[in-house]
Amino acid sequence: MTYLVNVLYIVAFALFILGLSGLTGPKTAVRGNWIAATGMAIAVVATLIKVRDTATINWILIAAGLLIGVVLGVPPAKKTKMTAMPQLVALFNGVGGGTVALIAWSEFIETDGFSVFKPEHEPTVALVVGSLFAAIIGSVSFWGSLVAFLKLQESIPKNVEKALVRSAKLFQAANIVLLIGAVAAAVFIGVNAGHGSPAWLIVLVLVLAGVMGLFVVFPIGGADMPVVISLLNALTGLSAAAAGLALNNTAMIVAGMIVGASGSILTNLMAVAMNRSIPAIVFGSFGGGATGAGPAGGDQGTVKATSAGDAAIQMAYANQVIVVPGYGLAVAQAQHTVKEMAEILESKGVEVKYAIHPVAGRMPGHMNVLLAEADVEYDAMKEMDDINGEFARTDVTLVIGANDVTNPAARNDPSSPIHGMPILNVDQSRSVIVLKRGMSSGYAGIENPLFFLEQTSMLFGDAKKSVSEVIEELKAL
Ligand code: NDP
Repeated sequence: MTYLVNVLYIVAFALFILGLSGLTGPKTAVRGNWIAATGMAIAVVATLIKVRDTATINWILIAAGLLIGVVLGVPPAKKTKMTAMPQLVALFNGVGGGTVALIAWSEFIETDGFSVFKPEHEPTVALVVGSLFAAIIGSVSFWGSLVAFLKLQESIPKNVEKALVRSAKLFQAANIVLLIGAVAAAVFIGVNAGHGSPAWLIVLVLVLAGVMGLFVVFPIGGADMPVVISLLNALTGLSAAAAGLALNNTAMIVAGMIVGASGSILTNLMAVAMNRSIPAIVFGSFGGGATGAGPAGGDQGTVKATSAGDAAIQMAYANQVIVVPGYGLAVAQAQHTVKEMAEILESKGVEVKYAIHPVAGRMPGHMNVLLAEADVEYDAMKEMDDINGEFARTDVTLVIGANDVTNPAARNDPSSPIHGMPILNVDQSRSVIVLKRGMSSGYAGIENPLFFLEQTSMLFGDAKKSVSEVIEELKAL
């Protein structure tokens, strides 16, 4: 049986890695998900075969758990709109962390506070250390992800969020105390393994870590959210690996490490792209209490409105047009229409490029996925560092539903809450056309001086509708 279990585990791990490689492109992503899910099903079966030898399995409890998971997980995953996917992913990530924390708690209860060990608990050091690590990190990840969910859902009123961001220093101090408290309680439990610890101590560890999870994410400003989300993802993976260590379950260790490692790589990439260090994000907020650049609606001057006809003429006679997609492109689902417009421009001899900011949209790689779905050539999608030098010699930049990632205050205004965030240098372009529905702010909730520049004009309306109108005008030229 051990041989069969090991073979099944190896097959499962191979499928995890194969599935992950499928997630590198939108065309293979769905297949990749299915492959990884099959791997996980095989790992679950192998684990059930393995534990059958050492423990009695409560099949009714397992079936009930599966049923509850399916009922709670499948309908929202099917019904959720594409634009709300980031918050759903944050929620699912949190549920993973919460599960791990509960596993740690149940191990504590089952071993009577780590005092009674059975053969399946060997080696006990792994059980105790793994459980305590899982309790802390899993709890941080669960509560932190819940706040991330609320922030992405934009359920926290803007004034409350601003007050939270301004209180970053307080949260930072509290987090140090909470971390010391949680680790001290965990060390006490660990040192007393074999003798047992009172139940309230593990609850204390979970509560202190949970409050820390809340306090870490509460003061994170808009521009830092992407990095924090990938950090929470990495933490969930690492906590799952720790729980795998506690349960002596190879599948959980491997799956947890894959998630932890890929999440850590992504966190690092995002932090580098945003010119931030991870400790600076966790222990401070973007610009702290800075209030510059004004809230949306501040008096920045007047904006010029333009029409689809004028926009079409400007672009048709340009040498180069750079399209800057943002979250509004995803909301409008305008990617196919934009591709169609680009093809018409290219047929008129205009070179069209797409400028991709690393945190445009609401998920890492959001714009790449949308544009790839519309078959935009990979070569036409330019990363921020590659395209930024080109704006100054570009005739027309078409900003489609992007806002924060084009905000020059991040570069010019030290008092701006997003000061220091690298942006696309759209303001250096000879002419800028911005497609959005009104003058609402972006995710960071601040005014964008770009909209008030001499060379900028606004084409108001839903992005898909506006691009369709531009297409009609281009055809008529
Ligand atoms: P923003 O959130 O800054 O702005 C999006 C703009 O799109 C809004 O100003 C809105 O204006 C406009 N819009 C919305 N719907 C439509 C529509 N149907 N048609 C046309 N316009 C529309 O987006 P960016 O992509 O520029 O910036 C992303 C922000 O999200 C950054 O602050 C980033 O830090 C944050 N973030 C990113 C994450 C990631 O992983 N990528 C995760 C979490 C946060 P209006 O309502 O007037 O139309």
